[in-house]
Amino acid sequence: MAGFLVFSENNDLALELVTAANSLKAVAVSACTINNNEQAQALAATGIQVYAVNNEDLLMADVGAIAAAVSQVADKAGADTVLLASNRRGKELAGRLAQVMDAGCLTDVTALSIEVERILCQRNALGGATVATQYIDAGRKVIAIRPRTFEAAAGAGTGAVDEVEVEVKKSGVTVLEFKSRAGDSVDIEAAEVLIAVGQGLNSKDDLSAVEELAKKLGGEVACSKPVATDKGWLSEERIIGLSGKKCKPELAILMGISGQVQFTVGIRDAKTIVAINSDENASINQMADYIITADLHDVVAEMNQKLG
Ligand SMILES: Cc1cc2nc3c(=O)[nH]c(=O)nc-3n(C[C@H](O)[C@H](O)[C@H](O)COP(=O)(O)OP(=O)(O)OC[C@H]3O[C@@H](n4cnc5c(N)ncnc54)[C@H](O)[C@@H]3O)c2cc1C
Repeated sequence: MAGFLVFSENNDLALELVTAANSLKAVAVSACTINNNEQAQALAATGIQVYAVNNEDLLMADVGAIAAAVSQVADKAGADTVLLASNRRGKELAGRLAQVMDAGCLTDVTALSIEVERILCQRNALGGATVATQYIDAGRKVIAIRPRTFEAAAGAGTGAVDEVEVEVKKSGVTVLEFKSRAGDSVDIEAAEVLIAVGQGLNSKDDLSAVEELAKKLGGEVACSKPVATDKGWLSEERIIGLSGKKCKPELAILMGISGQVQFTVGIRDAKTIVAINSDENASINQMADYIITADLHDVVAEMNQKLG
């Protein structure tokens, strides 16, 4: 392998990608930044070479142009493998970049290892029922890794920051304004304590008691998919699972959730799991450290009372 280039517009995720590349004992790891000198300095502080692109014609919203720029930086860096974050923008970029680089591409990767010059990538398969190990059988590779699979790299040295020129056409996209997303901007992946509710919750009105409990425990409320997509009681930002977020909290309290695999893949790495379900045979109990067989509404009321 000639070398690795990491890129994410998100500072924290870019640092996670450095750890991912280092975990493969890669000899040449470099990073690309686009119009983000603060990120360039943070990445250089991990000891790697950084190629900083500063070009006002490049807009993050124009993923095609970003793909063209990252591809050119990969060529300059002599990198045959590009690591991206498998967030929404990273996944779109992965496909476009692979096309520009004529590379093979894997997204939603949850673990990496090297075996005889091959990068083995683990991904959930068959709706999350199993984990498939796959590799890209092509010289050039684009691999998008799920956020928080790796710790962010710490400052361990002083890498160089070199400004590089790229040739891109002026974007056909014009950004009129930036607005933060209306309503919910919760980051359940960063929460140390999560209280996840499922379809066992009787009504939207019962959410206020769950939110009160989450506040008392210093945590966030999350949910199974149908609570957000079918019932619309919580935003889709709060879904745990295959089509939602993969979370690793210290404590996960799972209430009224049956334990379908599409949900459990998103929470199985939690340190301590408490399952509250009225059905003593609920499959969620198989992954729980503590099982409470009871009506979740009674448990929430009692916990709120005990916690004052
Ligand atoms: C491609 C695909 C992707 C998917 N992705 C996701 C995903 O990312 N996340 C996700 O969550 N799902 C996902 N699903 C859906 C998933 O298969 C399940 O349908 C879903 O997780 C079930 O949600 P639930 O556990 O809340 O509801 P249910 O399966 O209906 O379970 C409700 C549970 O509540 C219990 N209960 C009822 N009343 C009470 C009470 N009063 N007190 C305590 N317990 C009670 C019941 O015993 C039951 O176990 C996906 C499905 C597909 C096909």
